[in-house]
Amino acid sequence: MRIPSPRSGLARALGYGLAALLAPALIAGCGPAEPGTVGSAAPGTSTVPPPSSPSGSSAPSAPSSGSTAPTPAGSSAASPSTGRTSPTPTPRVSSTPTADPTGSSTPAPPPPPAGGPTSIVYHTASGGRTVALTFDDGPSQYTGQVLDLLAQYGAHATFCQIGPQATARPAAVKRILAEGHRLCDHTVHHPQPMHTLSHDRQVYEIAAAKEMITKAGGTGTEVPWFRAPGGDFSAENKLIAVQNGMRPLGWSVDTRDWSRPGVASIVADVQRNLGPGGVVLMHDGGGDRSQTVAALRQLLPWLTAHGYTFDFPAV
Ligand SMILES: [Zn+2]
Repeated sequence: MRIPSPRSGLARALGYGLAALLAPALIAGCGPAEPGTVGSAAPGTSTVPPPSSPSGSSAPSAPSSGSTAPTPAGSSAASPSTGRTSPTPTPRVSSTPTADPTGSSTPAPPPPPAGGPTSIVYHTASGGRTVALTFDDGPSQYTGQVLDLLAQYGAHATFCQIGPQATARPAAVKRILAEGHRLCDHTVHHPQPMHTLSHDRQVYEIAAAKEMITKAGGTGTEVPWFRAPGGDFSAENKLIAVQNGMRPLGWSVDTRDWSRPGVASIVADVQRNLGPGGVVLMHDGGGDRSQTVAALRQLLPWLTAHGYTFDFPAV
C-alpha cells in the first residue's frame, strides 16, 4: 500500500514529497553495478561497523517496506530540476518543474534540518550555461579513459564512487582529485533497492563508503555529495547523508548509458534533454563502459561548441 513508513514523521515530511515525485523515474536511471566488483571489499577495514543483518529484512519499523514512496500525481512540493528545458523521456518526472500541473496552491516547503538541506540537488552550482557531468559506479578500468577525455577538453566532473572500488583503485581516486574533479558517495554495496534496508544498514552503506573514498583519496579528501544507487532516495537515507556531511545528488539528464543503448543514443539523450545548469548521469563503472567513453568523446566538443562550461553540482 502507499502508506509510508512511520519511522520518522519529520523525516517523512521532509522527504516523501520529493521522493514520491521522483523515485520511480530515478530508480530506472542507474543500473546495477558490476557483479563481482561491488561488495567485494571487506567491511572490516572500516571503522564503521557493518550491521549484523545484510538484508535488513528484520527491520521492525517498516511495515510497508516493500513499497516505494507514494506518488501523488501532480505534487508540486519539489522542483526536480531547474536545468531541464525539454521534456524528459521518463514520463513520471515533471517536465515543467516550476509549474504546478494540478493548479493547486503551492505548499510551503518544509524547513531544512540543521546540518544542511536534505533536498536532492538537480542543478549546477553556478547555473547559467553550465553543465555538471557525473559518473557513477566507479572507479573502474574505464575511469582513466574518462579522465583523459575530460583533461583534453578542460572539463571537470563529479565521480560517484562505490567504496570498495575506491579502496581497490586509490590511484584513480587521487588522480580524480589532482585533476580538479570532485567525489560523491555511492555506497559500499550499491544496494537496490536501498530504502528497504534497515536503518543501521543504510548508515553503514553511506558512512563506510565515504570513509573508504576519503581514505583512498588521502588527507583532505572531501566527499560533498551522496547519490543513492538507482536514485532510490528516501527521507531516511537523505537524512543519513546530511548527517554525514553530504548533499543528496540527483540528475536532470539520464543517458541510460549503463544499459549500453549505443553511442548515438547516449549522445542524443544529452543533446535532446540538457538545459542550462543540468546534471548529466553517466557511468565510469559497473561493466563495459566503452560506449560511455565513445559518447563522451563526442559530447565534450558538442558541449563546448554549444557554449557550455563545466561546473559541479550545487551543494
Ligand atoms: Zn549506480
